[in-house]
Amino acid sequence: RAKQSGAGDCRFYNRSLTDQASSWLQLGVKLRRAIQDGAFELHYQPQIDLRTGRLVAVEALLRWPDGGPDAMPEHFIPYAEETGLIEPIGEWVLEHAVRQLAQWKVDGLPSFRIAVNLSPRQAVDAQLPLFLVRVLADTGLSPELLELEIAESGLMEHGAATASLLQSLRRLGVGLSIDDFGTGYSSLAYLRRLPVEAIKLAPSFLAGLPEDSGSRAIVAAVIGMAHSLDMRVIAGGVERAEQVECLDELGCNVVQGYLYADPMPADAFLQWYREHPVCPVPSTTDMPFQD
Ligand code: C2E
Ligand code: MG
Ligand code: MG
Repeated sequence: RAKQSGAGDCRFYNRSLTDQASSWLQLGVKLRRAIQDGAFELHYQPQIDLRTGRLVAVEALLRWPDGGPDAMPEHFIPYAEETGLIEPIGEWVLEHAVRQLAQWKVDGLPSFRIAVNLSPRQAVDAQLPLFLVRVLADTGLSPELLELEIAESGLMEHGAATASLLQSLRRLGVGLSIDDFGTGYSSLAYLRRLPVEAIKLAPSFLAGLPEDSGSRAIVAAVIGMAHSLDMRVIAGGVERAEQVECLDELGCNVVQGYLYADPMPADAFLQWYREHPVCPVPSTTDMPFQD
């Protein structure tokens, strides 16, 4: 607003800065209260194997039902990251996600993994491996059923510290993947030196599929290189059947997105899973399969 108004409009400028500062502080207060009150929830979004149509994992996504206008993860997570509140929030997420998967096993669901997002700050937290050891031991869940998604953009921020933490996590047996690959500046050559098993293509990569030949060439090249480095490729944000057909042709391993299911609360996920033990994929269905 200050930019648009002319010179001499200092009063406006000051007020909007003050407003910003006070809503910034209020968000901190609200988030601290939410942590104390246990006001967060997790939703779960299926990841589907493109060969078999079967569920291989769910991604846990944080929800803040009472967060009002601040409720979007893309809004409050960067704030939590900057202020350090991400540490208690992230621990809650990890513990809750692992417990939920352990409960689903008790309920008799077949084996699938749970993917949990790790913020850049968590990815340098030296306490994290011990915390995970405790949570895994408490629940009896085997570590390979947990996959941590590390945003590519955060990786480069603290390169060396992250690399050494990822090595410790990998030694625990936990799976590691690079989230939103393509949005940061890291190369596969750099990722090769990290103990990473999978990359998740950023949705912006998929937007042009299958029509745009440039997008197609890039996705094909990334998938080819990832496979030659023994990494699986997951496509997030899949919305159209044509994208899945194309990803399948290009050898992508796993798909996730609104086309198959939204992120859902645990009970809705269970219901979804009962109704979709196998999802339509190009190798098992005549396309198009969009309903
Ligand atoms: P992300 O890890 O890349 O998660 C995927 C986001 O895409 C989610 O947004 C999901 O709801 C959304 N999505 C799923 N399918 C589709 C689709 O077909 N099309 C489109 N356009 N979007 C789709 P959400 O839940 O709002 O989360 C946003 C981001 O916030 C996540 O991006 C992740 O970076 C962060 N986040 C969410 N939960 C956590 C958490 O527990 N811890 C941390 N550190 N970050 C989290
Ligand atoms: Mg993710
Ligand atoms: Mg994303």
